[in-house]
Amino acid sequence: MESSIYDINTAKEEQKIWALLQDVKDPEVPVLSVVDLGIVRSVSIDEKINIVITPTYSGCPAMDVISMDIRLKLLEKGYKNINVQQSLSPAWTTDWMTEEGKQKLKAYGIAPPNPKQQFCTTDMFAEEAVQCPRCGSHHTKLISQFGSTACKSMYQCQECKEAFDYFKCH
Ligand SMILES: [Zn+2]
Repeated sequence: MESSIYDINTAKEEQKIWALLQDVKDPEVPVLSVVDLGIVRSVSIDEKINIVITPTYSGCPAMDVISMDIRLKLLEKGYKNINVQQSLSPAWTTDWMTEEGKQKLKAYGIAPPNPKQQFCTTDMFAEEAVQCPRCGSHHTKLISQFGSTACKSMYQCQECKEAFDYFKCH
């Protein structure tokens, strides 16, 4: 059992793992995979399978769940020696989200993170124009810094009155 299946074609195995990670959903937004979100930073194989993940904001409580889900998914497929590490630097940015991920988020009724927002502070955050996922209006108002979970804040559209979650940058 010593010779692993991994070294036959490492690159191919890494690709397979990326594909499996598409099935690992974010516990807060179940339509998004951890790959869509861009929190999986790297997959590499040596003696172990090394997966590096970066939380969407530091202290995100979902990260332990995500680490475990990744591990379980790979164990289920027969992989062993799985090493999931969290990396806090560089910090996650909305640029790491895939276009597909942003579209899925919108379809799910959550406003995707504003791509222009590179350095967000709480103050700037409150003034930022968030687009309503229902009617597309930018005439929206921050209701609460905390939405249904700590990773989201809550907005209300002034046009259609829809209340919706906005995915925080970190
Ligand atoms: Zn609206």
